[in-house]
Amino acid sequence: MFRNIKGQSNALQILKLALDNDRIAQAYLFHGSDGVGKFTAALYFGMALNCFSKSEFRPCGVCSSCRKFLALDHPDLLYIFPTPNLGLNLDGEITKTDYIQEYEGYIRNKIETPWEDYQFSANIMIRVESMNWLIKRLNLSAYEASYRVCIIEDADQMNIPTANAFLKTLEEPPEATVIILITNNLSKLLPTIVSRCQPVHFQPVTPSVIEGILRESFNAAPELARTAAHIADGSVQRAIHFAHNESLELREHAFGIFEMAATGKDLAHFRQLRSLPRSFNAESAIEVLRYLSLFAGDLNLALDAPEQLVNIDKRDFLAKAREALGEIDPAVYTDRVIAFVLLMEGHIRKLRGNANLQLVMLDTYFQLKKLFRA
Ligand SMILES: [Zn+2]
Repeated sequence: MFRNIKGQSNALQILKLALDNDRIAQAYLFHGSDGVGKFTAALYFGMALNCFSKSEFRPCGVCSSCRKFLALDHPDLLYIFPTPNLGLNLDGEITKTDYIQEYEGYIRNKIETPWEDYQFSANIMIRVESMNWLIKRLNLSAYEASYRVCIIEDADQMNIPTANAFLKTLEEPPEATVIILITNNLSKLLPTIVSRCQPVHFQPVTPSVIEGILRESFNAAPELARTAAHIADGSVQRAIHFAHNESLELREHAFGIFEMAATGKDLAHFRQLRSLPRSFNAESAIEVLRYLSLFAGDLNLALDAPEQLVNIDKRDFLAKAREALGEIDPAVYTDRVIAFVLLMEGHIRKLRGNANLQLVMLDTYFQLKKLFRA
């Protein structure tokens, strides 16, 4: 099943060696950006340690143990993630019953559509109640597993009391237990925690690997797979999310802006900007900016290397727009495109920092117009 995780051969090699030689560390730290396979790898690793199959290709994914892991329902899988205050008691029961539905929603989403973000209705963190439950469980013996598997997702979101409680467990780890911490923000973890774990780095996945996943496992159309792979920034999760959601609509939105800038339809653009729907939020804008960077890059290739275009379906428009620029030194034009893409990166950071969305979009439009200056 490890084969399902693409583009992570280094990380998987470390885990396979550990399994083959039966040298399992007591604690691992899976780190790397979001949506690249850290959780899946943690789950499969735990499954492999408990799989009933005698084959060398563990986990099998079909034995009773594997199936319980895949349903996140194995009694010896201890899974902790940031939550609102659930009023968790020492037996792991949620006493604030209003949250039971949300908690179950999170788990269901994790199993069925893990590429979607699940939003709790209140502030989330890893709370000391979760850690106290975990510590109590680790002091008891395992139910049925040969290895208890403890996965702590977004471990950087432990508050101080939680981190201190956890540190004691790490210092005296229980037997036949593997603890896997997952984080996309290594620098936010206490150094005392980091130093007690074996680090396993997960790298961003290349666009061509992501494109393959989208086409083979999700039956995405070729142009959608290609663009989603390129704007996903190395995250398989984000790419699947794009391919599944209104991303096509946002791509058309971006293309509309690109077209208006190319043809000087400023007034139409200002009108559109004033009447953006409420649903068009910072995340939508970030996605549009990413698409615009891709269109800009393609403009550069439209005449000289059309086979390398990301937006193959827009080939005709791109070629015409590039032609309209006339005789322009390709090197000069490449610099223009690079400057634009860097600017978009800056805008994306601003949008993440709550910048005014309309102002950012307006500036984007003016920057875009510079690309079309003959
Ligand atoms: Zn199995």
